Amino acid sequence: MIPIAKPCLGLLEAKAAEQVIASGWVSQGPQVAGFEADFAAFTGAKHACAVSNCTSALHLALLGVGVRPGDEVITVSHSFIAGANTVRQCGGMPVFVDIEAGGYNVDPDQLAAAVSRRTRAILVVHQMGMPCDMRAIMQVANHERIAVVEDAACAVGSEIQFGSGWRRIGRPMGDVVCFSFHPRKVITTGEGGMLTTDNVVLDDKFRLWRQHGMSVSDTSRHASAQVIFEDYPVQGYNYRMTDMQAAIGREQLKRLPDIVRRRRELANRYRLALQDMDGARPPAEPVWARSNWQSYCVRLEDGIDQVALMQAMLDQGVASRRGIMNMHQEDAQRDVPLAFPLPRSEAARDRSVLLPLYAQMTDEEHDTVLSVFSDALKTARQPARINLVQAV
Ligand SMILES: *Cc1c(COP(=O)(O)O)cnc(C)c1O
Repeated sequence: MIPIAKPCLGLLEAKAAEQVIASGWVSQGPQVAGFEADFAAFTGAKHACAVSNCTSALHLALLGVGVRPGDEVITVSHSFIAGANTVRQCGGMPVFVDIEAGGYNVDPDQLAAAVSRRTRAILVVHQMGMPCDMRAIMQVANHERIAVVEDAACAVGSEIQFGSGWRRIGRPMGDVVCFSFHPRKVITTGEGGMLTTDNVVLDDKFRLWRQHGMSVSDTSRHASAQVIFEDYPVQGYNYRMTDMQAAIGREQLKRLPDIVRRRRELANRYRLALQDMDGARPPAEPVWARSNWQSYCVRLEDGIDQVALMQAMLDQGVASRRGIMNMHQEDAQRDVPLAFPLPRSEAARDRSVLLPLYAQMTDEEHDTVLSVFSDALKTARQPARINLVQAV
């Protein structure tokens, strides 16, 4: 069976976690601080704050930019449900806009029309690792003086040409960037998340909120030669990462450049093979973007049945997934008023398929996926059956 994804974990991660366990300090402590420093250095952000997952990162980011009851947050429906859930956990309401014509990210041209007096923030998603058109997004945001949160759950190691050169996703172009280290992403700590920002006031808030709004951290109290009492100036959350996770994360970060290199190699291999295949089109990468290809999303041409295709692949031992979900099509968010039609989002979910991609995949395994996919495309072609029904 070839799975859709596989985390890149090994002995280095096991040893790092073992050392933390042997040290006796397993909750948020020196390894978390070390991971944050490494992550800030890697991305080029001034500050990095580790949290329990990307959903808690999004919650804190939205609170940080001031989303409160009655506020609106402009975002895409075509993304993981945590986006809308966290907007609503702040008391806000998402305003869904559609995605771009040629890809799976927000269409920047639709942002301006969605701005109202109640707009507090724009939440953009670097979907499947592909950077958004941040230049166009920031033009609208700066013009309207609206905060921007980047959901980079999938985009660690991706790069974008911005200003004078290439920069890694995570050096904020807006206000805050949120990452996930779930095993389905490009590097993992089991569960885990990170907030990056250049704004020290925001970073201070994140650090306070993630540990119950407590003024003194466990580590500083532990290290103090004097008796100190903490206090609780604000209401907070328990969104901490453990030191075991952080130690694993530091090893993962060292592997990241090699992981991304191999993923890009495999994505290029997909692109070349798909050029000669009938029935499916490869995803596009803009000249100003370098994706980590967290997921490889192929668009199906008319006449190819999505479910039949996925079943035919599964029958041959190759996993696949349908396109990214749409939040407005799920019961949990069906009460969000739709101000704009979302035809591209709906087509993207139902007319695309994710193919397996992970750094350890060999060329031989990749060839297997390609030949199974190519055969499945033929099996999944539907017009014959439709003609038959019409004939009856
Ligand atoms: C995975 C994902 C999340 C949630 O990340 P967790 O770490 O599992 O909370 C949020 N947004 C997007 C776009 C994702 O892909």
